[in-house]
Amino acid sequence: MHTFSGALSLIPQNGCNVNRIFALFTIGAFFFILKVMPQSFYARGLRFSCKRCSVCCRRDPGYVFLSRDDAGLLASRLKMGYSSFVERCCRWVTLNEKPLLSLRETPAYDCVLWDRGCTVYQDRPVQCRTFPFWKANLASRESWDALDCPGVNEGELRSAEYIDRCLAGMADWKVLTRGPL
Ligand code: SF4
Ligand code: SF4
Repeated sequence: MHTFSGALSLIPQNGCNVNRIFALFTIGAFFFILKVMPQSFYARGLRFSCKRCSVCCRRDPGYVFLSRDDAGLLASRLKMGYSSFVERCCRWVTLNEKPLLSLRETPAYDCVLWDRGCTVYQDRPVQCRTFPFWKANLASRESWDALDCPGVNEGELRSAEYIDRCLAGMADWKVLTRGPL
């Protein structure tokens, strides 16, 4: 009898009890998520400082894709008109049947803007600016540690917020596709 009446007391009798149960459920779910859900491996930040070694800029074929803003910034940095910058420093690369704008490479697979270092470092494209904080590199501790970059796990501690801002910057970034310039 006592058990039955005790159980009855748990059943909401009015709107106030419904709100209280909902609030308790929400707080419980919040603490459950905090304690049980795995945190990203970079929750306490990651160390990275670029050593300007140029490993990621040369001697290896690859793409440095450009958004319209990237291309505009580089054109003005190089004191070129936009069209002549695209013509002289860029190439169209077809991926998934889409022509995408990328910087050119030299025959030795150096970035066209490399000359004993990045010649446009302060205005380098978003792809270079956010490296190595890219989604694929941050998929796991293993993928992060495996990067061929001597700046990884060295130098300045970058907070999880900083890393998330890099990821968001890459998510918003739109590579220029071929069309009217
Ligand atoms: S990002 Fe890494 S690989 Fe690229 S120049 Fe800096 S230290 Fe070298
Ligand atoms: S733009 Fe600069 S940082 Fe980016 S790949 Fe070219 S030389 Fe390297």
